[in-house]
Amino acid sequence: MNVLVINTGSSSLKYQLFDMNSQAVLAGGVMERIGETKGILTHKEFSTGREVKTKKTPVIQNHQEAMHLMAKLITQKIDAIGHRVVQGGENFKTATPINGDVKNAIQANNPLAPLHNPPNLIGIQLAEDLFPGKPQVAVFDTNFHQTIPEKAYLYALPYEYYTDYKIRKYGFHGTSHKYVANKTAALMGKKPDQVNLITLHLGNGCSISAIKKGECQDTSMGMTPLAGVMMGTRTGNLDPAIFGYLMDNTGMTQAQIDDVLNKKSGLKGICGLNDLRDIHERAAQGDKLAKLAVEMFAYQIKKYIGAYAAVLGHVDGLVFTAGVGENDEIVRAKALADMSVFGIEIDLAKNDIRSSEPHTIHKEGSRLQVWVVPTNEELQIATETCQVLTK
Ligand code: ADP
Repeated sequence: MNVLVINTGSSSLKYQLFDMNSQAVLAGGVMERIGETKGILTHKEFSTGREVKTKKTPVIQNHQEAMHLMAKLITQKIDAIGHRVVQGGENFKTATPINGDVKNAIQANNPLAPLHNPPNLIGIQLAEDLFPGKPQVAVFDTNFHQTIPEKAYLYALPYEYYTDYKIRKYGFHGTSHKYVANKTAALMGKKPDQVNLITLHLGNGCSISAIKKGECQDTSMGMTPLAGVMMGTRTGNLDPAIFGYLMDNTGMTQAQIDDVLNKKSGLKGICGLNDLRDIHERAAQGDKLAKLAVEMFAYQIKKYIGAYAAVLGHVDGLVFTAGVGENDEIVRAKALADMSVFGIEIDLAKNDIRSSEPHTIHKEGSRLQVWVVPTNEELQIATETCQVLTK
């Protein structure tokens, strides 16, 4: 079965076609700046046994044009389509074949993810028009976190805010946490339900999850992706009273503060830069705020590891993934320093090795295994799409 995975953003379209017999990628691409005067299109073709890359800058007026362009560029057959959808609320615990009710439920969750669910739904609608009769499946970022117990997902607000306004922790990056957890269990020679893991998805957005025997028990992002550890430009956890204090004392509007918390805070807020490659370069030149940003980031990650070790009781392994998790040995080393009380002993030489293959970075004799495992959310979506359709 060939499964096309589609991820529609507000001004972007990402797609990958998988042959699920071999799990090979047949084609894939990204279209950016949809609706702007100059779009960016990158398409790669792998079916000929070698990579053929096309890069163009056409005007892509809207998502409909983008989707038609994609359909023209893909020359192989498509049997089914898997859509990444960000917010499934409490309606969806697993990958779900799309029908009218599912689309209504996605729309009903729009207020919880106003930037993501509407374009995701446009992508679904367009794909239905473009590929009539082909099965379409929604895989939600929130699926994997639906096993989090009530005591962990509720905020200590008046209870009716949960029932009336759906205010609770939903968590994000679920597809990535699930993929690396399953992959790491397999690499350890175990089934997912035989291990307890702490998975650390550290990219521009960051989230950390506590996974017990394959089921998520807690995760650091919250009702929105703003919570948890500090990120490239997002604050992470904050004393909630700061919001009102800023409103009262700076004259900023709610929208302006929102913008600061999401786009001008985190690593960028502390040192002016959000890409850790640039931050390390600056720190090496002696920049105090760049050094501080790295120290704060690693400290916050360390605290979550400690907290989630307590949640799980017994931990078999840690898994680092995404841009920072896979590539940044400095952040990993700092976050894992002096944690032998938790059974974590990192091998600094192994930690320095860069590899696109999954590998361990713990010392021989470390009670916990520490893995670096590249994530593959698209493959996870394709796998779940295939599973739900062949069940
Ligand atoms: P996104 O959350 O946008 O999917 P990624 O997972 O691609 O992000 O992570 C992007 C971030 O990863 C960059 O902003 C940068 O901080 C970090 N990163 C990428 N490559 C490296 C590297 N070689 N060394 C250190 N950090 C890196």
